Amino acid sequence: MDYDDLLQRGLSKIPEKAFKSSKYETPQTESNVIGSKTLIYNFKDVAGKLNRDPNHLLKFIVRELATSGTLEDSRASLQGKFSKEVLDELVVRYIKSYVLCNSCNKPDTKLVREDRLTFIACEVCGAKNPAKTLL
Ligand SMILES: [Zn+2]
Repeated sequence: MDYDDLLQRGLSKIPEKAFKSSKYETPQTESNVIGSKTLIYNFKDVAGKLNRDPNHLLKFIVRELATSGTLEDSRASLQGKFSKEVLDELVVRYIKSYVLCNSCNKPDTKLVREDRLTFIACEVCGAKNPAKTLL
């Protein structure tokens, strides 16, 4: 038996569930530039998939883009023209900063505010890590 066989045997022993639970689909934005604004049509849906408040996600995005924006029902309206690539990249950055647990990397977390600090509380491993404060 060579090394590859050993590796295969090792891998096959990992239950499939371990792969499934670590698989995490990043929600994609559906947006369009209208005049001098960018509309994200499925904004509430994206925030919902991340289990986050759309206002918090919007705050992050407008700060990163140095612009302003408003929530309009299920969509967000941003001042300025931004491509889908830029917006999707920001969602990925938001996930890394405010959704994934710093200890176990699972997305099953919630934001907890204590005093003036925000923590990412993990429902999988129980870790509580400080998150960057959004001003
Ligand atoms: Zn964790």
